[in-house]
Amino acid sequence: MNNLENKVAIVTGASRGIGKVIAQNIAKAGAKTVCVSRSENVIQNVSDEINGKGYISIALTCDITNSENFQELVKTVVDRFGSIDILVNNAGITKDNLIMRMSDEDWSTVLDTNLKGAFNGTKAVTRHMMKQHSGRIINISSVVGLTGNAGQANYAASKAGLIGLTKATAKELASRGITANCIAPGYIETDMTNQLSDKIKDALIEQIPIGRIGQAEDIAHAVCFLASDEAGYITGQTITVDGGMVM
Ligand code: NDP
Repeated sequence: MNNLENKVAIVTGASRGIGKVIAQNIAKAGAKTVCVSRSENVIQNVSDEINGKGYISIALTCDITNSENFQELVKTVVDRFGSIDILVNNAGITKDNLIMRMSDEDWSTVLDTNLKGAFNGTKAVTRHMMKQHSGRIINISSVVGLTGNAGQANYAASKAGLIGLTKATAKELASRGITANCIAPGYIETDMTNQLSDKIKDALIEQIPIGRIGQAEDIAHAVCFLASDEAGYITGQTITVDGGMVM
């Protein structure tokens, strides 16, 4: 297991699903883990659960679409823990519709959360990471950002945009010891995929060479690796964690 002792990590969208499991795994690997979402009680429970297992975590609320909010969050973390070593931009939403029916609002809300939210986070941590001459930025994209998907123009554009943001970040910050990478999950078992019928699930599994829907842990393990010192020579990359679906 990767050792993240003495590191401080921020995980957005940690109140449930993939982000919650990423936060649990990063904390288990030894990092002081800041769990972030908009819902105060839920995120506090996630953090309490982590602390209950003997790891170190705090919960902070933040709307990642608001850049000032994110700056304040990072200031609070640095005041509290003295550094910021790992940022996982995981929070994301969908508002699916065919292009001809997609409202301007649904386009903007998804882009503001999935893409601008990650930009806000990256901008907020950059100064601190540059001073430290080290840092890890990990953006959670999607295979849909690589392949596109009917009914998800806003989501696919935001997830493809994250890949471009990651490469620009990687090129700008590499000389300061900061890496930026993307993970593109395939179909992962979460509340969202649990709502699919067995028939649809079986059809999906047929497209996955490894023959199963992914678990949030599959994503968390890749995040912990990219966050570790051992991944220091990897930057600007997108790693698909999808059971071989897209290759
Ligand atoms: P969930 O819907 O389960 O969780 C989304 C998280 O994001 C919640 O914690 C939510 O908390 C938080 N969030 C949403 N908007 C904001 C905001 N404006 N500010 C702060 N936090 C916010 O998502 P998943 O776990 O399924 O997905 C996690 C990531 O993985 C997303 O980026 C998603 O696109 C990506 N992904 C997921 C796949 C899957 O199969 N599930 C496949 C490919 C990619 P709250 O509402 O409390 O703020």
